[in-house]
Amino acid sequence: MEIVRSQRKISAGDVAVISTFPLYRTPPVLEVRLDDFELFAIDRLRVLKGISDGLSRGKKPDEIERLVNDLWKSHIRHPQASESETINKDIISHFVLRLVYCRTEELRKWFLSMETTLFRYRFKLEGFESQRAILAEFNLPYKAVSNAEYKSVEEKLTQVARSLGQSVTRSDDIFYKVPFEEVPELVAGRKVYVHKGHAYVAMNQVVSLVVTQFRSNLSKALILTNRKWTSMISDKEKNRLTPIVEALSTSYLGPDYSEAKGFGEISLKDLDRVANSSFPLCMRHLFDKLKEDHHLKHGGRMQLGLFLKGVGLPLDDALTFWKSEFSKKVGPDKFDKEYAYGIRHNYGKEGKRVDYTPYSCQKIITSAPGVGDHHGCPYRHFSEDNLRAALNKMGVSSRAMSDVMDKVRNKHFQLACTLTFEAIHGSSCDAGINHPNQYFSDSQKILQSKVLLNNPSA
Ligand code: SF4
Repeated sequence: MEIVRSQRKISAGDVAVISTFPLYRTPPVLEVRLDDFELFAIDRLRVLKGISDGLSRGKKPDEIERLVNDLWKSHIRHPQASESETINKDIISHFVLRLVYCRTEELRKWFLSMETTLFRYRFKLEGFESQRAILAEFNLPYKAVSNAEYKSVEEKLTQVARSLGQSVTRSDDIFYKVPFEEVPELVAGRKVYVHKGHAYVAMNQVVSLVVTQFRSNLSKALILTNRKWTSMISDKEKNRLTPIVEALSTSYLGPDYSEAKGFGEISLKDLDRVANSSFPLCMRHLFDKLKEDHHLKHGGRMQLGLFLKGVGLPLDDALTFWKSEFSKKVGPDKFDKEYAYGIRHNYGKEGKRVDYTPYSCQKIITSAPGVGDHHGCPYRHFSEDNLRAALNKMGVSSRAMSDVMDKVRNKHFQLACTLTFEAIHGSSCDAGINHPNQYFSDSQKILQSKVLLNNPSA
């Protein structure tokens, strides 16, 4: 895959499209614009992150199947795009993300798992003939059972199907003869008929074999890509692709929260009330610590300060707020000399005059607070006891708490935050929490709609 700066758009003429369901064996031989390199990868990342959220929320297989279909249609298969453009986008985005996610064990594990899930459900959504073609492309040495042989074992196959609560339907009429030792789980689970050393594996069970093969190929490919990346590509591309690749694995894909959206400004007098009702735990903790210690270290000032800007606290109110707290510890003069600049800087009024963006969950979760710091994500950085105490204070019931702690143990920190949001607001948050300012804005919407419901003339 060659990356160019040309303005040429990829079209069907640029590359011979071989299959509508690529197995990603070799990188495509085509030119890719630098913009597309990044944009295609972000779109695929939206699909993989959507799947990851769905899985960690415990969605059932049929729900994941619908989710994969919807995510694919929204982010990869745009209605205006031709078939070949969609296929090219599929292939390019996969190979770009290989570069992004080959670089550490943890990244490889996540990518492998999400790509395999995507493959499994896309495969299931394919038509029967296409599934057979993919099976053939994998070169798996399994033969379809002939009609005559099928007739001779039909009764046994029907018995197995019935014992599994299925009926042998027409589309399941194709069976493959597989050496029984290659399908130990199916044999152990009595899910197949075994005769003379061969298991008769139904087409829907063959999916597992194809997926295993896909996973194994991709796992090896990621190790090889990592070697190439560290030995050659990252240095050679240090001024062009490397910064894009490095940023993609922690990129935040949601809306921009640098300005308050949908609920106007929040003034100083509202701050205590909204902190109590609508701040996520990370910001509530910083807010409480600031009130308690009358001081926050740099990381905490940045995390809370930008969040407050994003919820709509005007600069003058922000200065008054920070000064009233810090003055109790360092005095008003020291505040004016050493700390006021940083606050004006966050609002783009000093230095390069950049309007800084509030931190996303991804950025906060991957931060590394040191001793005396209070920033970071409590679901990731608190001890279990401290987290339980904090959730208790927020009013999370013991039943919801156990679900939250379960997600924390499995390192699904944003999902733990989502469950906390749902428990406190009594309302679902299907999109999940991806940004502290999204937590705030969703919370305000729910609270305002409750006020309207109780008092329609408000
Ligand atoms: Fe804050 Fe995000 Fe952690 Fe929730 S998941 S506490 S919003 S960083």
